[in-house]
Amino acid sequence: MARQNQVKDMTKGNGTAVEMLTKPCLFCGMQQFIRLTEDDFKKWAYEGVYVQDAFPYLSASERELLISGIHSQCWRDHLETEKE
Ligand SMILES: [Zn+2]
Repeated sequence: MARQNQVKDMTKGNGTAVEMLTKPCLFCGMQQFIRLTEDDFKKWAYEGVYVQDAFPYLSASERELLISGIHSQCWRDHLETEKE
């Protein structure tokens, strides 16, 4: 997949790339792996760096996954159910 290669390249040379397991999603209970570097994770987790600054190579939905574990699709489904 092209996007995964891009992530790999962008994290290269900036710490060890790791697969981070997210929290279980509130809605579907599934966990997911997100690829990031240990250095970036430490910046975000311990130094208070904003998620978008610590992981510029992650998409908005991947950042959301990292914070809450909630899939953007599950959010969408949930909000649509609420509306009805
Ligand atoms: Zn989900």
